[in-house]
Amino acid sequence: MTIRINLCFSSNPSSLRTLSVDGHFSFDEVHHAAKDFGNRFQLLPLAVLYPKSVSDIATTIRHIWQMGPNSELTVAARGHSHSLQGQAQAHQGVVINMESLQGPKMHVYTGNNPYVDASGGELWIDILRECLEYGLAPKSWTDYLHLTVGGTLSNAGVSGQAFRHGPQISNVHQMEVVTGKGEVLNCSEKQNSDLFHSVLGGLGQFGIITRARISLEPAPDMVKWIRVLYSDFTTFAADQERLIGAESTFDYIEGFVIINRTGLLNNWRSSFNPQDPVQASQFHSDGRTLYCLELAKYFNRDRADALNEVSAWSPIFWFSLSKLLRKP
Ligand SMILES: Cc1cc2nc3c(=O)[nH]c(=O)nc-3n(C[C@H](O)[C@H](O)[C@H](O)COP(=O)(O)OP(=O)(O)OC[C@H]3O[C@@H](n4cnc5c(N)ncnc54)[C@H](O)[C@@H]3O)c2cc1C
Repeated sequence: MTIRINLCFSSNPSSLRTLSVDGHFSFDEVHHAAKDFGNRFQLLPLAVLYPKSVSDIATTIRHIWQMGPNSELTVAARGHSHSLQGQAQAHQGVVINMESLQGPKMHVYTGNNPYVDASGGELWIDILRECLEYGLAPKSWTDYLHLTVGGTLSNAGVSGQAFRHGPQISNVHQMEVVTGKGEVLNCSEKQNSDLFHSVLGGLGQFGIITRARISLEPAPDMVKWIRVLYSDFTTFAADQERLIGAESTFDYIEGFVIINRTGLLNNWRSSFNPQDPVQASQFHSDGRTLYCLELAKYFNRDRADALNEVSAWSPIFWFSLSKLLRKP
C-alpha cells in the first residue's frame, strides 16, 4: 500500500515541489529558460532548478528516474544558453540552471602537468582569469569565452588551438557526472571510461557534467595577432594547410568565411600593416565573400626573437594581400 501511494505521488511532476534541495525550484518564472541564442525555438519548461550543490542535481534526477518510464518529464542542463536550436530547453520538463551551481570551488594545480578543477557551470572567461593568476591558461579554447564548461564539453569546443591540442573535449583529464539515474560518478580514460567518452561531445544526453579537470599550459606574456583576408578560396585553404603542417608555425590558426555586407572592413583594417594605410584604403570588398585566416604567435619577453619566426611567413601574407588588392 505504501509503495503504491509513493509511486502515485512521485509520478506527479508537482512532486518536485516536495524535494529538499539547497538551491530552489522556480515553477512560475520559467519563460527565460524557453529561449536561447538562436531565438528559433521556445519550449516552455515546467520548472527551473537553481542548484546550489551537486546533490541538488542528483536528488532531482534520481526523483525523476524513480517516476518510472510512464513519466514524460524530460531534463535539460542549461549552461549559458548559447545553443541555436533549443538544445538546452526541456518542453514541460525541468531545466537545470548550471550557472547557479556553487561549487566545487575552482582550483588551479600548478606543477609539471598543470590543470584546473572547475564546476560544469563555470564560464571559460572566469577560468581564464583565475588561471592567469598562476601564469597558466587552458590549452584549448573557444573564440568566445562566455560559454560554460558543461556547454562546450557537451559539444566539442573549437578554436584556433585545436589544430595543435585538439578541441576542448580532448583536453579533459576527468569529470564528475550526474547520470540519468541520479548517481554521482567520477569518470576518466581509466575510470568509467564509457561514461567519460559518451559525455564528452554527448550533447547533454548521457549525464550532467558537474566538474571537469582541464589541462593547462603556461600562458604567454605577449601575443602577435594577425588577420589575413583572401578573396580566393583555393589560396586561402592552401595557406591554412601549409601553416598547420609547418614545423615552426603559429600557436593559433583559424580560418573562416565572411560575407561582407556591412562595411565590416573598417573593423579589419587594423589587420593591415599600419605603415600601409594607402593600400588598405584601396581594398574593395562590399558584397563579396571573403576568407580570413586569423593567426597568433605567442612569445615571452625573454624570447622576443620568436617574432622573427613569424616574419618568415610574411611572403604568404603579402602574396595574398597583393591578390586581394586587385579590384574584382
Ligand atoms: C556567439 C557564439 C560564439 C560561439 N563561439 C564558439 C566557439 O568559438 N567555439 C565553439 O566550439 N563553439 C562556439 N559556439 C557554440 C557554443 O560552443 C555551443 O553552442 C555551446 O554549447 C554553448 O555553451 P553554453 O554554455 O551556452 O551551453 P548551452 O547552450 O546552455 O547548452 C549546450 C548543450 O550542452 C548541454 N549542457 C549544458 N551544460 C551541461 C552540463 N553541465 N552537462 C551536460 N550537458 C550540458 C545542454 O543541455 C545543451 O544540450 C558559439 C556560440 C555562440 C552563440
